[in-house]
Amino acid sequence: PESEKRRILIGMSNTGGGHKASAEAIKAAFQETYGDKYEITIVDLWKEHTPTPFNALPDTYSFLVRNAILWRITYQFTNPKLIHVPYLSAVSAFVSRHVSEALDSYNPDLVVSVHPLMQHIPIKVLRDRIKSGASKPINFATVVTDFTTCHNTWFCPGATRCFVPTEYCRDLAISNEMDARQIIMHGLPIRPAFSRRLPPKPRLRKQLGMDPALPAVLLVGGGEGMGALEETVAQLDGRLGDKCQVVVICGRNQKLQERLRERPAGPGHPLLHVRGFVDNIHEWMGACDAIITKAGPGTIAEALIAGLPILLNGNVPCQEEGNIPYVVDNRVGAFETRPDRIAAIMDSWLLKGSRHWFEDMGKRARALGRPEAVYRIVDDLAALTEEPYFDFGPATSALIGDDGAKKKK
Ligand code: UDP
Repeated sequence: PESEKRRILIGMSNTGGGHKASAEAIKAAFQETYGDKYEITIVDLWKEHTPTPFNALPDTYSFLVRNAILWRITYQFTNPKLIHVPYLSAVSAFVSRHVSEALDSYNPDLVVSVHPLMQHIPIKVLRDRIKSGASKPINFATVVTDFTTCHNTWFCPGATRCFVPTEYCRDLAISNEMDARQIIMHGLPIRPAFSRRLPPKPRLRKQLGMDPALPAVLLVGGGEGMGALEETVAQLDGRLGDKCQVVVICGRNQKLQERLRERPAGPGHPLLHVRGFVDNIHEWMGACDAIITKAGPGTIAEALIAGLPILLNGNVPCQEEGNIPYVVDNRVGAFETRPDRIAAIMDSWLLKGSRHWFEDMGKRARALGRPEAVYRIVDDLAALTEEPYFDFGPATSALIGDDGAKKKK
């Protein structure tokens, strides 16, 4: 019956494509595992439930992240607790009422955050509501959707649980005064489609309109089609000619798509497959032999599951930086930003180098992939809706600024 349905509110914000992808992966895995026992609502709390100028967060991020220096300054400056805790406390004075109203209207049995700026304020609002009796006592979980290096605002000891993808993030959570009992490591939540068996490669390639036998490289630049994709295609053309096929997923970058479609085709050129934003990237990954991508956490985790050797060609400053040594040190790929060298690496991976070594890279990738992570996270979240509310107490107060501020006086 409707009354027995448990309600889960997932807070995300569209800063980049990854947070939304993670939220949707969790929702899909909930539906697959539990049918309609849970009602999952995904909401951009900042955009939809805070007043101007706070609702401009996604746009501000898009602007900042395209200006590497501005983003680096913003990120580094706000990373220390000493800065962001008082800052978020100050912001909370303006937005608390709105967040509280949102909680009132959704009336969730569990709040889940998949965004670095959705811990301190929602947790503080939730605690205040529980204390005053405005909310029933419910738990709060953070699912970290960055892979390695990530901002300290992800970690707030007031969260009942914090799901991290890697040891690196676990250590960061501990250094942010989270208790080991709060931290769970399953991996990044990736869409259930990545867990399903795909048809054999030649058949899959045929379905996608690809050549069944030619070596295939996949080029992606996150949801926005970022990076020197066009120049890379030109260099692959010059170096590998018609001995390979190249799939370019342009995401929402319409102009790139148009320019690529005008490229010369036919003998002497790679077979080029150009697509915009696709919702079957798992099939394209399954059909290709290697991937060239920026160091986005979602795309890396997906490529690992698909067993694809990964050539990273760039990264968003700060939060994606640690993903480069992760790929290189685990020997599942390489990092190179120059398109001519990228083409040379692809030449050695796909055509000239040791087959054995290339295949081992793919096997290591598959071994690191965590397709089951999303299901484990969802099972733990389902259990959290039943688990009694647990207040991690004084540490929380200090870190969200209220009692902590009083103590200093
Ligand atoms: N993606 C997709 N279709 C596209 C392009 C990208 O589904 O046409 C997905 C991709 O599979 C990944 C996400 O968008 O899940 C991008 O996340 P990532 O963390 O790699 O980079 P971001 O875009 O967040 O910077």
